[in-house]
Amino acid sequence: MMDANQFRGHEQLVYLHDKESGLKAFIAVHDTSLGPAAGGCRMWNYDSELEALNDVLRLSRGMSHKNAVAGLKLGGGKAVIIGNSRTDKSEALFRALGRMIDSLGGKYISAEDVGISVEDMEIAAEETRYVAGLTKGAHASGDPSPYTATGVYLGIKAAVKHKFGQDNVEGLSVAVQGVGHVGYHLCKHLHEGGAKLLVSDINQDALDRVAQEFGAEIMDRDAIISADVDIFSPCALGAVINDDSIDHIKAKIIAGAANNQLARDDHGQALMDRGILYAPDYVINAGGIINVAAETRGAYDVDWVKAKVDRIYETLTVIFDRSVSEARPTNRIADELAEEIIEKARAAKA
Ligand code: NAD
Repeated sequence: MMDANQFRGHEQLVYLHDKESGLKAFIAVHDTSLGPAAGGCRMWNYDSELEALNDVLRLSRGMSHKNAVAGLKLGGGKAVIIGNSRTDKSEALFRALGRMIDSLGGKYISAEDVGISVEDMEIAAEETRYVAGLTKGAHASGDPSPYTATGVYLGIKAAVKHKFGQDNVEGLSVAVQGVGHVGYHLCKHLHEGGAKLLVSDINQDALDRVAQEFGAEIMDRDAIISADVDIFSPCALGAVINDDSIDHIKAKIIAGAANNQLARDDHGQALMDRGILYAPDYVINAGGIINVAAETRGAYDVDWVKAKVDRIYETLTVIFDRSVSEARPTNRIADELAEEIIEKARAAKA
């Protein structure tokens, strides 16, 4: 059954079953106090509509938090399409999605997420202007990964300063799980900053590239999380911090790009109890959404993007300091910071 608490705070929920194209989708607008609700569209083979509904409500609330802490004038929203992204895509489906987004009149701005490509969104964009994350057109922002990687690197530096009192990553060891789009650029920054790299991936070509270019040591896929390093940087999968892995982590800092790194919220407390500093995922990986958000402001302005990405260092420093002074885990502090920002905007509007 649906947990009624899931609806807490949501402004609008739309369901569409377009018989012609077969599109079955939800759009959830969580909060627009800061601005239009922005968040990607996910396509997933959900077992039921209820599962999709739970996901869209949870993810849209997460986007409110992420956008608020990133200092964006955007609220939180999300779309989910129920279907198999390998077999169920069609032009008609994405046109129907575009019309569905357009029907909200700009209250929700979409982009790519799991299972959705730039090409899919370009079809939707023919039916609505409320789509960002495009590679073509007047305001196109292109690949967000380099900005995400820069933000993660700055976040690692903020964590290093807080934990070790050091201003750079010189001489520190970093285990990077996943050297794809973000992981590759992050390895480049870390290598240039003088860190020693240990890496894992399921793609041998990606591993060979970072080994060759940055002298990274390749590790066994299952061993990376328990590597004896200063910093563990998850840049592949979600839920890597879980009941099975948490006791084996030797790193003193966890700071990476992956979404939803904690399997459960209370793993944040467990990390704190073990003396491990955790950089909340949606704070440190906001570079990508910042880059996408630039499109929603009109002409793409790279200096605006860089200035916002630079702020990730200060935001994390505030979160780390508050975590110490209030003796509460960093993930809780981040959520509260987000809610404070949203509440302030809500009060100013009232
Ligand atoms: P990507 O698909 O380019 O890279 C992920 C890499 O992880 C791939 O090389 C893949 O082979 C590897 N991988 C998969 N399973 C693995 C495993 N079990 N062990 C080790 N490696 C494994 O994705 P990306 O764009 O680099 O994003 C990385 C993570 O960061 C994802 O969780 C993504 O949701 C998150 N993120 C990305 C952005 C962005 O701008 N791209 C923004 C915010 C968050």
